[in-house]
Amino acid sequence: MPSIFSRIAAGEIPCHRVYEDEHVIAFLDIAPVSRGHVLVVPKEERERLHELSPDSAAALGRALQRVAAAVVRATGAADYNVLQNNGAAAHQAVMHVHFHVIPKHADGTGLGVGWRAGTLDQAHAPALAASIRDAMH
Ligand code: 5GP
Repeated sequence: MPSIFSRIAAGEIPCHRVYEDEHVIAFLDIAPVSRGHVLVVPKEERERLHELSPDSAAALGRALQRVAAAVVRATGAADYNVLQNNGAAAHQAVMHVHFHVIPKHADGTGLGVGWRAGTLDQAHAPALAASIRDAMH
């Protein structure tokens, strides 16, 4: 079963499209957190960001920057959040990779962020960084 975003990309379900190229489509979120909330979606259907092919990921990164610039120009909101959820526990509802571009407006509308910052454990940080470095390939 294609995802709802694949069906939007295929033109089977309508959307308010703001950008499209060979690899990417971007359109207005149907339940916007704030005015100008846009979803940027790779046409390659993968559930999570790290599962994308390099070509798709590169195209997505290029499109994301251009869409963000257009949202800033069109809405006048200089401040914005880019959000990308992976997995249900991380608040992903549509299991097809997507980035949210969410303007933060002067009236306060926009993304609310709960950020429970800890303190980096300096004793364990070298091994942690090394393990992630070693996992890069
Ligand atoms: P997630 O929680 O998976 O990161 O966010 C999914 C987003 O997709 C939500 O903000 C939701 O409003 C949006 N969405 C879900 N279904 C549709 C749809 O059919 N059309 C559009 N334009 N947005 C959708």
